[in-house]
Amino acid sequence: MSLPSLREQFSALIAAPSISCTQPALDMSNRAVIDLLAGWLSDLGFACEIQQVSPGKFNLLASYGSGPGGLVLAGHSDTVPCDESLWHSDPLRLSEQGDRWVGLGVCDMKGFFPLIIEALLPLLDQPFRQPLLILATCDEESSMAGARALAEAGRPLGRAAVIGEPTGLRPIRLHKGVMMERIDILGQSGHSSDPTLGRSALEAMQDVMGELLGLRAQWQREFSNPQFGVPQPTLNLGCIHGGDNPNRICGQCALEFDLRPLPGMDPELLRAAIRGKLQPLALKHEVRIDYGPLFPAVPPFEEAADRELVRLAEHLTGHTAQAVAFGTEAPYLQQLGCETLVLGPGDIDCAHQPDEYLQLDRIEPTVALLRQLIQHYCLTRSEDVQRR
Ligand SMILES: [Zn+2]
Repeated sequence: MSLPSLREQFSALIAAPSISCTQPALDMSNRAVIDLLAGWLSDLGFACEIQQVSPGKFNLLASYGSGPGGLVLAGHSDTVPCDESLWHSDPLRLSEQGDRWVGLGVCDMKGFFPLIIEALLPLLDQPFRQPLLILATCDEESSMAGARALAEAGRPLGRAAVIGEPTGLRPIRLHKGVMMERIDILGQSGHSSDPTLGRSALEAMQDVMGELLGLRAQWQREFSNPQFGVPQPTLNLGCIHGGDNPNRICGQCALEFDLRPLPGMDPELLRAAIRGKLQPLALKHEVRIDYGPLFPAVPPFEEAADRELVRLAEHLTGHTAQAVAFGTEAPYLQQLGCETLVLGPGDIDCAHQPDEYLQLDRIEPTVALLRQLIQHYCLTRSEDVQRR
């Protein structure tokens, strides 16, 4: 067995493109990344299971040791698309620039996996009392289909899960949900000189927007969480398309909006509230109103501040667990019974940007942190843990 070096692993993962995108022309398979990880981890003695989520899209579940409990170290194997012309180096070639490694996915977040392997290596000859599961998902950057497939399968994964998204090595225990929704109104076009000839979709949409802003005001009065930079839930009317000419009654109008609920707000209940406002407007304007999500919602996420994993991560990093403004796969792992935290080495500011980087001085502390987590959850006798 000859495992590639840390840097060679980074290079190989970056060189295997795994873009996931809602635009089919840009979307790619993540199989090459999954195969690299499965190859290295099998050589180290992991049992590797590759789960097909959809054609060309795969999750990897690699486990070391068996039994209940244990630790899950998780990340996504895909990246966002990149504007190659804006990069100063080839995004698919790992390059060292000053104090950083640069490449598409070094920070968000293929680079997390080699760091897990680095943390593991000196521990492999010790008995694992509880299993370590390394999870690599697909399509986190587009539909979250990989994590949703796991949540739907419902198989328990471990006692605690850490997702290595870029958080600058600070533990994150809350984020808002992400909902992207669309409302379509179908009225009847007609000559503008006689309003009785048609039913204006645009005027109905004006009322719809009024109701949405009313709901927003209500939710912002009812819900607030000072842990967040923007403490209230948000609702943004993002784009509208309707009508074609001033002298025609507008027959069709579509609105897309984004809604970011706080932990404790159930996306389904929010949708039901919106639907309840739309029905009377459809009757009033005699139009048809269709409403649905553009993508499945990412639920909001909160792990309680007093959980063992939260306390341990705060102790090991020296930082109090905080909230972030982006959505992650955390709610899906939490649904599977894991205490869940988001904690990884990259900086979110450079994710999804040209010249995405990982600072080299993050490598050592990340490896040390992961090693301590593995020791705590997989190597320490559970009686020892209880006695603490
Ligand atoms: Zn990510």
